[in-house]
Amino acid sequence: MSDLESCVDFLQRLIQTQSLPGSEGEIAALMRDEMEKLGYADARIDEAGNAIGRLPGRGEAEPLMFNTHLDHVDVGEHDAWPYPPFGGEVHDGKVWGRGAVDIKGPMAAQVYGVARLIRDGFQPAGDVYVTGVVQEETGGLGAQHLLTHLRPPLVVVGEPSRNEIRRGHRGRTELLLHTYGKSCHASVPQEGVNALAVVANFLGGIDELEMRRDADLGASTVAPTLIRTDQISPNVIPGEVWLTCDWRSVPGERGEDAREVLQALADSSLVEGSRAEVTIPYYEMTAYTGMQMDVPCVHPGYILASDHPAVIATKEILDHALGRDVPVSVWQFATDGGHFAEAGQTCIGFGPGDDLLAHTIDEHVDISALEEALDGNEALAKDLDARVLSA
Ligand SMILES: [Zn+2]
Repeated sequence: MSDLESCVDFLQRLIQTQSLPGSEGEIAALMRDEMEKLGYADARIDEAGNAIGRLPGRGEAEPLMFNTHLDHVDVGEHDAWPYPPFGGEVHDGKVWGRGAVDIKGPMAAQVYGVARLIRDGFQPAGDVYVTGVVQEETGGLGAQHLLTHLRPPLVVVGEPSRNEIRRGHRGRTELLLHTYGKSCHASVPQEGVNALAVVANFLGGIDELEMRRDADLGASTVAPTLIRTDQISPNVIPGEVWLTCDWRSVPGERGEDAREVLQALADSSLVEGSRAEVTIPYYEMTAYTGMQMDVPCVHPGYILASDHPAVIATKEILDHALGRDVPVSVWQFATDGGHFAEAGQTCIGFGPGDDLLAHTIDEHVDISALEEALDGNEALAKDLDARVLSA
């Protein structure tokens, strides 16, 4: 079997191993065992359930980390899929199924791309880590735990990028507006204070907010998404309402900055006898290993300048390895790269697969894209730390 065939076989087994957030135990073991088989040093699983492998370097540069995640979003209606979502079937030169692009295709290409150096007995300047973390889709518990014990200065984030280079993305903060009025019988609304009235004013003002702009990523956006009241009867005036807002932030804009803007809007939306509070929810996340962590709903954005040394070095390496002019742009969605960047790590995005297919029922990856990603990851593992970290 060629290493491309082995990589495709690994990807099929990854897709056949369901791994919703909080249930990544089986796939973490699969990734660790595959790395062990390929000769990685001390392939292991950490306390949060992240899988980690290492290719020892010559000790002449700081380590480089390749990163993907182990979990995937739900598949919805099985029958709506053109091929079974957990089949990992190959049709027309493509591997189909949930996770083909987000993120098991990129994971297979990282594990097998770096393994080429092991096969060839090549030692890069610094250690190269390959990591698969838990619960990226639900806030990044795995990435945040990884940061407590492994923090290489340079990270290749393998989210799908069509084998192009990505140098950043907006962040995401979840905010909760909680309004308080006074409940009463709906036949005499004047006797109460309808907590929905504050929400109505708030929604009327939300599109008028002045949003920050980033030259590369555009403006922040905010969208109301979920609403619930304290009542289950249709003939009672609600005394409390909760409205969830999804805020997409530009780099440098903290969750607290967004909260302050929405609190000011809430204050100006009050009606007589009401009050309102905007908070950032915390979720108590539990890993499949049992480890727990309180995670605030804040996923930072980040951006590297187009002339950042890591961007320039990545482009030179990939242009040469792939034999084409590799475009550099930004992702539309948030990744664990935001957590890494906030911790001071430099994050470059590179992965096979069309990012627009992520989270869809048509998710598939071209085997030719996997082949190109193997070449790209091999070249980055060989040269990127030497070019950037010892520069
Ligand atoms: Zn992903």
